[in-house]
Amino acid sequence: MAAAGFKGRDARARLLTARRRADSRRATGGGQAMDATALERMDPAAACARYAAIRDRLPAAHFPDAAKRVADLAAVADLFDAFVLDGFGVLNIGEAAIPGAPARMAALRAAGKRLIVLTNGATRPMAATVAKYRGLGFDFTAAEIVSSRDALAQALAARDDALLWGFAATARSAIGELAPRALLLGDDPAAYDAAEGFALLSGDAWSPARQALLLAALRARPRPVLVGNPDLVAPREDGLSLEPGLHAHALWDATGAPCAFYGKPFANVFDLARAKLGPDIAPQRVAMVGDTLHTDILGGAAAGWRTVLVRAHGLLRDLDADALIRETGITPDFIAETT
Ligand SMILES: [Mg+2]
Repeated sequence: MAAAGFKGRDARARLLTARRRADSRRATGGGQAMDATALERMDPAAACARYAAIRDRLPAAHFPDAAKRVADLAAVADLFDAFVLDGFGVLNIGEAAIPGAPARMAALRAAGKRLIVLTNGATRPMAATVAKYRGLGFDFTAAEIVSSRDALAQALAARDDALLWGFAATARSAIGELAPRALLLGDDPAAYDAAEGFALLSGDAWSPARQALLLAALRARPRPVLVGNPDLVAPREDGLSLEPGLHAHALWDATGAPCAFYGKPFANVFDLARAKLGPDIAPQRVAMVGDTLHTDILGGAAAGWRTVLVRAHGLLRDLDADALIRETGITPDFIAETT
């Protein structure tokens, strides 16, 4: 117990230190400072502090007074007709399934629950996402998966300006499916100059050098920046990966020009999930299940659903979840130890 308490205090001290650093960066007009630090390896406390620093760029929502602790999703199954599930930190950690999660999904499905995966993973097209979950032991169909990539695709398709979009993505991102005129941003400054707009889809191939090229290009000639994954970080087997939201907020800090975000916690992707659920399920019978307060829980509450924070596998695994909930005011309806 003493060790656990000590660990909690240690994590909280690191959180406060990271938050003070973020505050001082902002206080000193630190666009430049954020440029340099945005691509540092982040720990969970620093990521939470960064989420707190960009809170006014996220939607508003109403929350319950207190969260109820439960062991897992089986404990709340009777309360809900549909479970909308985050991927990273709820179903998988990196490329591995969370132990027990495939069996839990099968049990919920057998009990007649509707299941929707709502992920901010946008790097790969839908077929690859379906195959990934199949490979992890889940049986989700394409009709049961909504990704932030879908919300970005909808926004791009709705535009009639036929811009040449420069994508932060990977060679396997199938960017041609998203825009008829698309180029992959790499290390050649000419591509950043040629692009008429930018779409940040994946952090997997991004680098400080590419971020610097993009910032210089935007300073030279402002252009729209669309973000296909608002996450700052994502849990992987060996730590946290840096995601497009982190890079986008650094650009926003440095240029003063807002980016347009597609994915949790923003309404665009919740609207797509709601359309998949159909009109017959009452909002209070839908549970948004996630590991991150500022994306899953905030977004689920803003959508009018109830929320379940899964604590043990994702961003808050080594942090004091109760303290973070108190500090942020982002209170889930339930805190489940595992999926
Ligand atoms: Mg997650």
